[in-house]
Amino acid sequence: MSKLPHITTSIFSVMSKMAAEYNAINLSQGFPNFPVDERLTEIVSKLAFENVHQYTPMTGYPPLMNQIAKLVQTSYNRIIEPETEVLVTAGATQGIFASIQALVKSGDEVIILDPSYDCYEAPVLLSNAKPVRVALNDDYTPNWETIEKACSSKSKMIIINNPHNPTGKILTENDFLQLEKILSKFPNLLVLSDEVYEFITFEEKHISAHTKEFLLNRCIMISSFGKSFHITGWKIGYVVAPEYLMKEIKKVHQFLVFSVNSISQVAISQYLDVVDVNLLGKFYQGKRDYFQKLIQNSRFELKPCEGTYFQVVSYANISKNDDVTFCKKLITDHSVAAIPISTFYSDHKDQKLIRFCFAKDNHTLESAAEKLRKI
Ligand code: PMP
Ligand code: GLN
Repeated sequence: MSKLPHITTSIFSVMSKMAAEYNAINLSQGFPNFPVDERLTEIVSKLAFENVHQYTPMTGYPPLMNQIAKLVQTSYNRIIEPETEVLVTAGATQGIFASIQALVKSGDEVIILDPSYDCYEAPVLLSNAKPVRVALNDDYTPNWETIEKACSSKSKMIIINNPHNPTGKILTENDFLQLEKILSKFPNLLVLSDEVYEFITFEEKHISAHTKEFLLNRCIMISSFGKSFHITGWKIGYVVAPEYLMKEIKKVHQFLVFSVNSISQVAISQYLDVVDVNLLGKFYQGKRDYFQKLIQNSRFELKPCEGTYFQVVSYANISKNDDVTFCKKLITDHSVAAIPISTFYSDHKDQKLIRFCFAKDNHTLESAAEKLRKI
């Protein structure tokens, strides 16, 4: 009866709801709790009185599409054609959904790496295609050998997420070399590169799919202004893809949303003139370091975090409970909400790991850490 029998309510909804019910500090779902840049709020308040409240063109507000092309050029030295290679979407989620629906056919296979963010599988299943889950190595690097073994003539797409949610891992030059080798053996394989945290990396520089010549003609690149500008609730992102793929993605997009809400598109197009995305990495590195310092003497064990605004920790020294039970008790007994990592695995592999979001003001991080240190 159900088209998606195995899909349940997203863990992010479940944990945020529970956090609200128990008045817990919510470090579960990934969203910032500090005010957005005043320059952006000023732009929005002025725009409210201007003539910006009707449909934009289906593919996006043209000045924003130009700004996205400019951002890609200044960040990665890649020249793209705004009219044919850019699509503004209602968040990365909608860009991913439209891309998969448009490009993946019944019977195709899509490689999804385990653990992975939760929004890839449903659109694959709704395309009547098969998600093929391939485990990352224990250190969360891709295992290119097993990925290659999982590829066949049926493989239509491989989804990579770099920087990676939930583990904070980023891909290296060698990873791209391995990917290139696989793509040369499977000429029909496309890559969907989810780079919503592209500007949030720390010691190491982010290597974008945009910078890889071998990917340009077969990669769908996804980003989100929600992450880059601390405005997750605006639900605005974009897709960059070569024209022959974008033509298909647009066909789905026009019947999914037609166009994305106008005022946020105009606002972001103006904000992109003044904001410097290169400051984001340092900003979140400060948050990561502060949060790590606050809980380093607790019984939680910190895992490496190279990018994103998520910190994975082990609670193996604290409890034998599975991670979902542990997270629920963390809310009810200690008033802090986190995300159990097992929910990012197709087989719900419990490794006593949970994820905290550190995109919070310092007071919130301090209050949470005080509670965590007592456990
Ligand atoms: N991909 C990843 C890896 C994410 O973490 C998220 C969520 N924040 C999204 C996609 C969805 O982004 P958006 O809120 O712009 O739809
Ligand atoms: N990407 C966010 C996270 O990982 C959640 C977004 C959502 O709730 N859909 O926490």
